[in-house]
Amino acid sequence: MTQHEAQIYYEFILPLVIDAGKILKDAQHIEVEIKNEVVWDWVTIYDRKIEEVLIKRIKERYPNHRYIGEEESFGETRELTDHPTWIIDPIDGTVNFVRNFPMSGISVALAIQKEIVVGVVYNPHMGELYTAVKGKGAYLNGNRIRTSCCKEMRKSVLNYELSLARRNEHFFKMYMYRTKHLIKAITGIRALGCAVLGLCYVANGRTDAYQADGLYPWDVAAGILIVREAGGYVIDTSGKEFDVMEPNFLATATRELSDQLMVVEKRADEELLNDTKLSESLRT
Ligand code: MG
Ligand code: MG
Repeated sequence: MTQHEAQIYYEFILPLVIDAGKILKDAQHIEVEIKNEVVWDWVTIYDRKIEEVLIKRIKERYPNHRYIGEEESFGETRELTDHPTWIIDPIDGTVNFVRNFPMSGISVALAIQKEIVVGVVYNPHMGELYTAVKGKGAYLNGNRIRTSCCKEMRKSVLNYELSLARRNEHFFKMYMYRTKHLIKAITGIRALGCAVLGLCYVANGRTDAYQADGLYPWDVAAGILIVREAGGYVIDTSGKEFDVMEPNFLATATRELSDQLMVVEKRADEELLNDTKLSESLRT
């Protein structure tokens, strides 16, 4: 795979994402369905419509390519192979979209040999198009973007996806302990409810860090490339190598900031562990 090939795929997908953005921007009378009886997992006809349009047009042009789309894949785990694979979130931030909070967007990435080589994230509400081709930098509306370069934790703003804490009891406690420690260590915490833009906001320096656990490949595939191409740093917070298919990650402006935040979170995790042990010993 050459950069030239990646550029061709990028030029193919870009107008399709911009077109699909019109569906998002012009949406009216948005009705919400609850996915699989999970009360916070919303879907609308627009999520399905955008994904359908994108996949149809990709299939017409590249019938041998594979795709992993949020609505199509719901309820099953798709495997990422060496084949060219388009990873699509038709609307990320569906709750924001429904409530007219202008932070939602379309995310499309292309993986070849399991490596993300193209990433496009489009927020038509604010007219912001974030793009990256591997090795060629990250852009917002055609202008090169870079992270804030923040290396000092106490001066940093972290976008921490707090709603994900409800996933289970362990997650809930982990998030609460970490938040308690982080609030004292940094300048500010945000929770914006849109992963694809959360990553792009690290890329263009609106925040210094973005952290989320338990997301899906389509939430992060394009955004991770955009952060990296903007000079940012991405780690898997569980200590493994970052895996787009199982993303638990911290994306930061710099490696130094990442290291400092991880020290604070480790301290929070240790306190949680000690408190859990203490309450168990009191019960017995
Ligand atoms: Mg979605
Ligand atoms: Mg999503």
